[in-house]
Amino acid sequence: MAASKKREIDLRDFPPGTVTEFTTLVCLACIFDIFTKQLGLAARTAFSEIKRHTPTTEELTSRSATRPYFDSDEKHPHCPYCGSAKRWLARFDTYCIEGGKTTDAARRALIKRLPKAGDQFIVVEKKSDSRAVLFEWLDTLGVNLDLTDESWLLDVTRNYLSRREPRINWEELFEEVRAIRRSNRLTEGWERDGIRLFLAFDLYGEAILIQYLVSRSHTHGGLTLEGRLTLMELIRRLRYVGYLDRIGIIEREPGEVFEKLIDHLAATRDWSRVAVNTASGSDRVKEVRTGSGSDRVSQKKTSKRSSKARKSKTAALPEPDENISEPVKLYYLIDRRDFLEKSKSVYASYAA
Ligand SMILES: [Zn+2]
Repeated sequence: MAASKKREIDLRDFPPGTVTEFTTLVCLACIFDIFTKQLGLAARTAFSEIKRHTPTTEELTSRSATRPYFDSDEKHPHCPYCGSAKRWLARFDTYCIEGGKTTDAARRALIKRLPKAGDQFIVVEKKSDSRAVLFEWLDTLGVNLDLTDESWLLDVTRNYLSRREPRINWEELFEEVRAIRRSNRLTEGWERDGIRLFLAFDLYGEAILIQYLVSRSHTHGGLTLEGRLTLMELIRRLRYVGYLDRIGIIEREPGEVFEKLIDHLAATRDWSRVAVNTASGSDRVKEVRTGSGSDRVSQKKTSKRSSKARKSKTAALPEPDENISEPVKLYYLIDRRDFLEKSKSVYASYAA
């Protein structure tokens, strides 16, 4: 049926990683049931109410959907609540676009191109904060990882470094890297030696913290380059490498230290920012490895093209007390076309 075929939205103008797509199915039999039986509306009234209905962004994006919403990867899904088959099911496609300089123009252009009539598309704006964005980022990262394969430690570290130093082509660099080590020599930055990547204490500390955060929900404790760690062990290691001192965490109680670590991590990096690859990998490597004054200047210059807030976040290594907690704007673009079409045909069968 042509109507149920997915009509793609062109997202080519958005930098990679700035748009997250969600699909949620809704059972129209359930929704009509709610409106007619539970709310006691006549079928016709129910239909006009349903047409106006848009789920909340939580309902559209959460992983544990509740009636009448559900998620399914099956080719011929059935409603888990009432067993209804495909023709009773409609889908909502939701595109969550991170606001910012790199996406604003593309987002406006996209919304302008979309059909306006009958609320086929709805845009919902939401403010998020850096902590929520960090956890979303960790969440997305965790979903795509295969924790049974040890190479995930490299993948997570690469993803983390891409956020930390977005202008470097980590993808290319990691093609050769097989091991990550803590450097005893570097005070900042990183260095590659053949298949080994050496990280300065700060980078290494954050890398294992990220690994811990990504894997702790899957297993007892967290898995890191240092093996499986409990929270206590993680904190002990971060203290040992001087990371806690450097970012000014003086608390001793593990829970408090953990909260401070999360706040620091969330606030001093822009987890919503996207890699801006402006130069070739080899140039980048040279630039960061030397870490001299002039390189710093060039980094600042590049980041100036982004927002003011990003400027400070792009600085090679943050000052100990640097704290940039800033709201991030998210735009949820909700494609209601399938929902509108299906409700119409379902209503027709009700009315018949
Ligand atoms: Zn149902």
